[in-house]
Amino acid sequence: MSKQIAIVGGGIAGVGAAWALHRAGYEVDLFEKASALGGNAKTFRWSADGGHVDSPLLVVAWPQMYYHNYELLLDELGVGIETLPISYFVQTPEGHFCQDGQTGIQKRFAPELRRWKKLVAFVTKVNDFFLPKGRHHSLYHFSYFNPLNLIPLYWMARLFGISRAFWDTIFVPIHCATFITTSMRGVPAVILPLLESIVPLEEPTQMGTWQGAPRQVFDRMTARFSDRVHTDHEITGVERRNDRFVISDSKGRRFEADEVVFACDSASVLSALEAPSGLQRLLLSNAQYVDDVDPAFSSFVVHSDTSILPEKHRQRILSEFNTYSEINEAGALECTFVISAQNPSTKDAGVPMLVTFNSQRVIEKVQKRIDLPHPTHSVSLQNLIIMSMMRYLQGRDGLHYCGTFTTPEGGHDLSFMSGLVVAHAIGADYPFSSDQTDAVADFKQMQKMMLKSGARRPL
Ligand SMILES: Cc1cc2nc3c(=O)[nH]c(=O)nc-3n(C[C@H](O)[C@H](O)[C@H](O)COP(=O)(O)OP(=O)(O)OC[C@H]3O[C@@H](n4cnc5c(N)ncnc54)[C@H](O)[C@@H]3O)c2cc1C
Repeated sequence: MSKQIAIVGGGIAGVGAAWALHRAGYEVDLFEKASALGGNAKTFRWSADGGHVDSPLLVVAWPQMYYHNYELLLDELGVGIETLPISYFVQTPEGHFCQDGQTGIQKRFAPELRRWKKLVAFVTKVNDFFLPKGRHHSLYHFSYFNPLNLIPLYWMARLFGISRAFWDTIFVPIHCATFITTSMRGVPAVILPLLESIVPLEEPTQMGTWQGAPRQVFDRMTARFSDRVHTDHEITGVERRNDRFVISDSKGRRFEADEVVFACDSASVLSALEAPSGLQRLLLSNAQYVDDVDPAFSSFVVHSDTSILPEKHRQRILSEFNTYSEINEAGALECTFVISAQNPSTKDAGVPMLVTFNSQRVIEKVQKRIDLPHPTHSVSLQNLIIMSMMRYLQGRDGLHYCGTFTTPEGGHDLSFMSGLVVAHAIGADYPFSSDQTDAVADFKQMQKMMLKSGARRPL
C-alpha cells in the first residue's frame, strides 16, 4: 500500500505539495480550515449586471521573469496567462505622483530619483560581487555573506542623500502593495535590485496574471483527488501514535497518516504539535509575519465605492492604474487595489472592484470585510535565519514544513516551490521537464535553502 500523507493548509504551498505527491502515487489528504482552497490567492465573486463575475482579490499578478515554475504549472494545467501593464498612483496632500513623470511631486523629487538610481546601481554591484556569475536574475539566489543582508535599505537611502520625505511619499506608498505593510524600515538593502526590476519607482511595469480567477488553478490541481480535499477542517492536533500520526480538527474529527506536511502559518503548526521540541518552539514561535510588525494591512474592505478616489483623477485611476495609495493630512497611508482595472476577465464587467487596506474613512457599497491573520512573511534577517534553520527540522520524525515561513520572501512561486521541494524530499518526482533550465535552477536552489545536503535527492 502507498504511503498516506496528510497536508495541513490549502494555499499554493500545500496544494502544490499535494498535487506533486498525488501524481507520484501517494495517498494524500489535504486539510484546509477555510471553506475554499487558495489561501491568500482568494477568488471573489462580484455581482454584475444581474449575474456575477469572479476575480482575484489579493494575489493578483506576478513578475514573469522570476516565476518559472509557477508558469510551467499553469501551462500544464491549461490555465491561460495574460501579461498586463501595472502602474501605481500616489495621492499626497501636496499633489500626486504617478509613473508618467509629469507631476509637481516628480519635479520636487527629481534629484532624489537620480540618487535612487545611483543607489540601485551600487547595490547591484555589491550583490553581483557576492553571487556566482549568471545567477542574478532569480528570487532564489542570494549570498549569506553579502553585508547588505544586514543593512536596512532605509539606512542606505539616507546615506545616499535620499530624504525621509522621499521614502514616506514615494517609496512606501508604492511598495506598501509589495510588502503588505506600511512599515519597511527594516527591509534589507540586498533586495533593492530585485524590487526595482519588479516595480521600478519611475515607470510602469508588466506582470503576468491568470485569464480568469485563481480558483481554476486550485480546482484543476486537485481534480484527481477532490474526494480527499477536506475544506472547513481546521487542524488542531498532530500526534504520533506508534508508527502513524493521528490528526484531529477543531470539530473533533480524526484522521490518520504516515507523514504530515505542514503548509500553514508557523503559529498554527506550533499549536497543533503535541509536544514540540525546543528547536520547534524556537523557530516556529519566532517567524515574523507582517501583522506581527504592523497590523495596518491585515484587514481590508472589498467594495465598489469609487468616491474614495479623488474626483479629478477618478476615471483615469479606474481604467489605467492597478494600485492607488493615498497619504492623508494626518500622514496615514491607505492603499487600494483597483482589481477591475487590471484583471482581463473583470475589466469589462461594468462593476468597480476595489480592495482597500488601512481604510481611513467610511466606505459604502461594501461587499465584504476580511481579516487576514498572518497574511505574509515579513522580509527580515530574523526570518532569513529561521528559514535557513528549518532544514534541521525538515523530515524529522515524518514531519515536513513548507509555505511562506520556509521561503526567503513572500511570493506565490516561492511558496509553490517550497511545496514541491517537500514533496520531492518525501519521494515525488520533480514535476516538470529537466530541460527547463531556469525552472530547474530555481528548484535546486530552493532545495539548498530548505534541506540539509543529505536530504536532497537528485532530480
Ligand atoms: C494581500 C496579499 C497580496 C499578495 N499579493 C501577491 C501577488 O500579487 N503575487 C504574489 O506572487 N504573491 C502575493 N502575495 C504573497 C502570496 O500570497 C503568498 O506568497 C502565497 O500565496 C502564500 O501561499 P502559502 O500556501 O504559503 O500560504 P497561504 O496562502 O497563507 O495558505 C496557508 C493556508 O493554510 C490554512 N491554514 C492555516 N492554519 C490552518 C489549520 N490549522 N488547519 C488547516 N488549514 C490551515 C490557511 O487557511 C491558508 O489557506 C500576497 C500576499 C498577501 C497577503
